[in-house]
Amino acid sequence: MILEVKNLKVSYNSHIAIENVSFKVKQGEYIALVGENGSGKSTLIKTIMGLKKPDSGEVNFDLDLSEVSYLAQTDLKGIDFPATSKEIIMTGCQKHGKLPFYTKKDKESFQEIVKELGIEELVNKRIGELSGGQKQRALLARSLIRNPKLIILDEPQTGLDIHITRDLYQILERLNREKKVTIIMATHDLDELENIKPRIITISKTIKYDGKFEEWKGM
Ligand code: ADP
Ligand code: MG
Repeated sequence: MILEVKNLKVSYNSHIAIENVSFKVKQGEYIALVGENGSGKSTLIKTIMGLKKPDSGEVNFDLDLSEVSYLAQTDLKGIDFPATSKEIIMTGCQKHGKLPFYTKKDKESFQEIVKELGIEELVNKRIGELSGGQKQRALLARSLIRNPKLIILDEPQTGLDIHITRDLYQILERLNREKKVTIIMATHDLDELENIKPRIITISKTIKYDGKFEEWKGM
């Protein structure tokens, strides 16, 4: 087990966003966190990542936090910095509070991940020049450059068309299968899950279902 979420309750002022949320994650699992808008997916993910403090409950990692990557729910259109994709991807190597000095290993890792995601031709472009799908790949590269054991993605398909989404999911599926990267992905893009058949956790303030894809689909 690499992550345990125990009895989480999280609220905003007096509004309870999630409660009684518990589950365990094993190394190598692929989990889709499914729920309508406002069901608490982002709140749960932010709490797991320590960005939001729970009212009660616990989040326990059996991993070093440097082995966990988080891809936030973002409006890709809004991303436009005066930096190249390469510069942005490389910031994924940085430990908190350290200056951006990169080791030889970081640079090798960069080459490897860029090749793996097939984004060689866009690394020298300014991030703002890229299409939504290309930006999302650059952000994914940024979160993969540290070789995380666990990657948590919050609706990575937001704003992307169906083909780009499919490619993105395929990349994630391959990372999970070949590198045994554990994936937790919030989504409400149910059609695409068919190809992945992940463990499904549905949430609507609390967990409504946690189990196999096939069984969930049959319900
Ligand atoms: P999801 O990611 O599934 O769309 P969220 O976790 O964003 O759901 O939201 C869960 C609930 O918490 C919703 O009722 C939402 O309105 C509320 N909420 C989320 N973020 C905030 C916030 N920053 N302030 C107040 N309420 C929030
Ligand atoms: Mg959300």
